Amino acid sequence: PNRSQTPLLFGNYLHSFFESYQAHKDFVNEHQKELFSRGNKKNGLKKVYSQADKCIKALIHDEGFKNAYIGEKEAIVTGDIDNVPWMGKIDCLDLDDGVFFDLKTVDDIHKKHWNNEKHEYVNFAIDCGYDLQMAIYQELIYQTYGIKCTPIIIAVSKQEVPDKDIFTVNQFRLDDCMDDLRQHQQHMQQVINGESKPIACGECDYCRLHKKLGRIHDIQDIRLD
Ligand SMILES: [Zn+2]
Repeated sequence: PNRSQTPLLFGNYLHSFFESYQAHKDFVNEHQKELFSRGNKKNGLKKVYSQADKCIKALIHDEGFKNAYIGEKEAIVTGDIDNVPWMGKIDCLDLDDGVFFDLKTVDDIHKKHWNNEKHEYVNFAIDCGYDLQMAIYQELIYQTYGIKCTPIIIAVSKQEVPDKDIFTVNQFRLDDCMDDLRQHQQHMQQVINGESKPIACGECDYCRLHKKLGRIHDIQDIRLD
C-alpha cells in the first residue's frame, strides 16, 4: 500500500522498449498522463523517465548487450512446484544457448543494503531476492521446455551516467533458494487457503495500522533499518 508507482512505471518503460517497438509505443500512449510533464507529450518526458531513456541508450549502444540479448521476449512459463502453481514472465529466453535474461534497473549497482536477518550488508541483487526469482524462473523454464538454463541478470543503474553490468547466480545458490522456497511456500499457500494465519512483518502500513501496544522493549533493542 501507498507505494509510489514511479519505480514500476520506470521499469515498464524500459522493459517495453526491449520487448518491441509496438509494445513501447502502446505503453507510452497508455501512460501519457504519468510519463510526460503536465501529462502532455508536447512537454517532453518527466525528468525521472528521461532517465529511463538514458538507461536504454546505455544498453543499446553496447556491443556486448546487442550480441547477447537475443531470444524470445516476455516469454510466459508456467509450472508446478510441490503442488503450488507458478507462472513467470522471462524478459528474454534463449533456449538454443540455454540462457535467459532479466533486465534490472537499480539505483547504484554497488550500493550496500542492510539485511536485518543476516546482520550484514548485502548487494542489490540479494536484497531484492533476485537469486530466488532466478531460481524459480530456471525451474519453470525447465518444466515448460525440459532445458535447464543459466540465468543472466543485466543490471543498469539510474545514475546520471548509467552504470551497467552482467551477472549470473551460481547453481549452488539457485538450489539453495529452491529449498528455501519449498519450505516457505507451504505456509503462504495455507494462508491463501485460509488454513493458517499470516505472520505479521511489523514493518508495512498494514502492520503499523493494526499495531497494539503491549510488551515493553529496552531502548537498546529498537530495530534499525
Ligand atoms: Zn506487515
